[in-house]
Amino acid sequence: MIYDAIIIGSGVAGTSAAYFLVKGGKNVLLLEKERLPRYKTCGGGVISRISDILPYEIEPVVDVKMFTADIFDHENNISFHVKRDEPIINMTMRESLDYFMLEKAREENAIFKSEEIVTDINQNSEYVEVVTEMGKYNARFVIAADGASGITVRKLGLQNNYKKIPALENEVYVENNQYEEHSKTARFDFGFVPAGYAWVFPKKEHLSIGLFTMNGSNVSLRKYLNEFITKLGIKDIKEEKKHGYFLPLYKKSEFTKGRILLVGDAAGLTDPITGEGISYAIESGKCAAEAIVHGSNDVDTVIKNYQKNLKGIVTELRYAKFLALFVYASPKLRKFAFKRYGKKLSELMTDVITGRNKYSKLMKDPLNYLKLFRSAKSLSQ
Ligand SMILES: Cc1cc2nc3c(=O)[nH]c(=O)nc-3n(C[C@H](O)[C@H](O)[C@H](O)COP(=O)(O)OP(=O)(O)OC[C@H]3O[C@@H](n4cnc5c(N)ncnc54)[C@H](O)[C@@H]3O)c2cc1C
Repeated sequence: MIYDAIIIGSGVAGTSAAYFLVKGGKNVLLLEKERLPRYKTCGGGVISRISDILPYEIEPVVDVKMFTADIFDHENNISFHVKRDEPIINMTMRESLDYFMLEKAREENAIFKSEEIVTDINQNSEYVEVVTEMGKYNARFVIAADGASGITVRKLGLQNNYKKIPALENEVYVENNQYEEHSKTARFDFGFVPAGYAWVFPKKEHLSIGLFTMNGSNVSLRKYLNEFITKLGIKDIKEEKKHGYFLPLYKKSEFTKGRILLVGDAAGLTDPITGEGISYAIESGKCAAEAIVHGSNDVDTVIKNYQKNLKGIVTELRYAKFLALFVYASPKLRKFAFKRYGKKLSELMTDVITGRNKYSKLMKDPLNYLKLFRSAKSLSQ
């Protein structure tokens, strides 16, 4: 049998792709190496833009809706409070979110096989063969949704298409009074860890506390995370589960090879400023699925469709990459910008997160360039 599509990985990218493919009338096999539900190292903060992409609500798996965010700038010792009438971020645990999205795809008749590790992929001009430890499957197209350390990019020789940024996440269970103190808002701390930020994302009964750095192996992330937890005044930890993984930041726009389409982390689609990847994973899964659904089984048409569908994401990430240089590569400029425009920047960032604004729109405004240029100039004098 030849499936219309095989999807490797049932994270948010894979389950999104599966849903839109079956909705489009395609027969789909979704392969996952783990047994679901499974823990996934992630802050689980889902930005509200997601409701523009998914046709169903994720409400049943939202632990906490965050209408406020506190942005701390440790270099100037100031903080900014932002508030919106709609949730800025929905806090989830990924084992629940991914399983919920899987069930949505299965309700539409996607075939799912768990605990099947894909070990090899071969393709010819007619179809792709996917090899697992249990057997071999064929499909007209494969969607690689196997994350930042998946087998597909290695097999296709595309592992240098993105840079891997280390990130840590601790699931921290504290006493009630400390949970109450930290569970009212989403917290983002800049200038605490070099070239990155730390966060506190409250969940139903605990706090997800993590950080990342663009400086890679030069920084002891574990040391910074311990210091951050101390700085928060968190003591008497009842239980702490420590995890680490990577954020993939794309360098090259090479999202296909033959009949294989890369989505989500496998394509390196994470925001280089916030580390946010869930919405890009879900959106790219949808883009790949729609490319196949409207591609009349023709490889060139499917590839062309996918590149066209991804254009919005790629443009956003290009602008974000440019802005990230100002946020992370130049501490002096960041310090100046936060001091001078901290409140405005926090509001703008919140607008991007909620989907009311875009990096591309911000940077297309010549006045914004001018402000950055002026700031840089005044610092160099
Ligand atoms: C510490 C940290 C915190 C983060 N916090 C946030 C956040 O708060 N908000 C946000 O938006 N983003 C966050 N991100 C980014 C986000 O986690 C990713 O962008 C997102 O998980 C990408 O989803 P995905 O479906 O592409 O990949 P994944 O979620 O990694 O899913 C890949 C799936 O493929 C499976 N798989 C892998 N190899 C195989 C194989 N050989 N065979 C079969 N199956 C396989 C895996 O088991 C997994 O289920 C964070 C990342 C990190 C590291």
